[in-house]
Amino acid sequence: GVGLADVPVLPLDEAFALTAEFKADGCAQKVSLGAGVYRDEQGDPWVLPSVKKVRQQISLHQTPNLDHEYLPIQGSEPFLKLARDLILGESLSPKGNLTSIQTISGTGANHVGAQFLARHLHPKHVFISDPTWSNHHLIWTIAAPNVTRKTYPYYNAADRSLDFEGWVATLEREAVENDVVVLHACAHNPTGLDPTHAQWKFLAELFRRKKLFAFFDSAYQGFATGDLDLDAWAVRHFQEVLFGLEECPDHEEGPSGLCIAQSFAKNFGLYGERVGAFHLSLPPSTPTSGAYSQLLQLTRAEISNPPLFGARIVTTVLSNLELRSQWEQDLLEMASRVRNVRGLLRKEIEHRLGSGSWSHLESQTGMFSYTGLSEAQVLRLKNMHHVYLMRNGRASLSGVNESNVKYIAEAVSEVVS
Ligand code: PLP
Repeated sequence: GVGLADVPVLPLDEAFALTAEFKADGCAQKVSLGAGVYRDEQGDPWVLPSVKKVRQQISLHQTPNLDHEYLPIQGSEPFLKLARDLILGESLSPKGNLTSIQTISGTGANHVGAQFLARHLHPKHVFISDPTWSNHHLIWTIAAPNVTRKTYPYYNAADRSLDFEGWVATLEREAVENDVVVLHACAHNPTGLDPTHAQWKFLAELFRRKKLFAFFDSAYQGFATGDLDLDAWAVRHFQEVLFGLEECPDHEEGPSGLCIAQSFAKNFGLYGERVGAFHLSLPPSTPTSGAYSQLLQLTRAEISNPPLFGARIVTTVLSNLELRSQWEQDLLEMASRVRNVRGLLRKEIEHRLGSGSWSHLESQTGMFSYTGLSEAQVLRLKNMHHVYLMRNGRASLSGVNESNVKYIAEAVSEVVS
């Protein structure tokens, strides 16, 4: 028809719709295990103590002359250097042939990366894990409509394990040179299952041989295990094997590059401030100037320049020894609390069911548990017990604490019995 009368109505985004439903629920015992946001032992949002200190330092009172000028198109240079060093490590990062821009958190980094690669690498396919963070599909559909989306198997439902063989077999069979493969750097969303170091090593070799482009999505560095280096291990290994070793034989033989979409939402608790970065790593002999200029243009057209406040906080924390060590404590506190409630919830559920089948609650890493609950059970949890989680059975464990764990276990036991 003519005009906008026939615009089809799309379903609401599940994660945000679930949060709205939860907010509207008047039941006092309601529990949110939906959104991937950290909650403290009281079930409240947590402003990290390190971030609080910086907020005081940059308050109106302390810094009345602080201005609110635009950042350059690429974002804050000190922020970008600190961000790059954080993910790649201070020994690997300076040696790399890298170019970076600041983005609208991890989502913006995924988006600008997809746009850039679609236009300049021209991959035939992008491979996305099955299952994954649902926004991966949406981002690639919208930002890179000419790139065919494929999935690689990731999860064995039968024994709740990583389907590494299926993953490798799919890439061997279907991936061609310059295809992009989206990889979760750590704490895979939603399964909480990560490859072992040996499996990452195997993948890096496969990427080198088949010349595949690794697109690392790093949304949980430090949050997964509490250890920043451990959570960056896979990214650093790929960088080192593919582009970092001086004695590396012939980079012409490897992939065209790799990239990292880096979010500071979870590890700084700066969700709404939208702090992130996109890093592109190219072989040593490939100039970065063309790619950088294209990234600037995409950014200029989309957001003109990135937001300032959150980047200011991250820069201040990362560049100050005392604040940085406070931040590392904060990360450990978040990671440990989630790990602790994993154990508690497992114990309470197993106690009620009298079976040992809930060990996956404890063995999975990061904020999420892929519970294995069916869609019908998830619906019943919501309607009968006011416990909210995603339809695919993903539970955000930060919503669990010592005061509600028995209630949740009771509800779960009821729906699975
Ligand atoms: N990637 C993954 C796998 C995520 O789970 C998330 C957040 O849930 C993001 C990226 C990006 O989040 P944000 O845009 O808030 O940084």
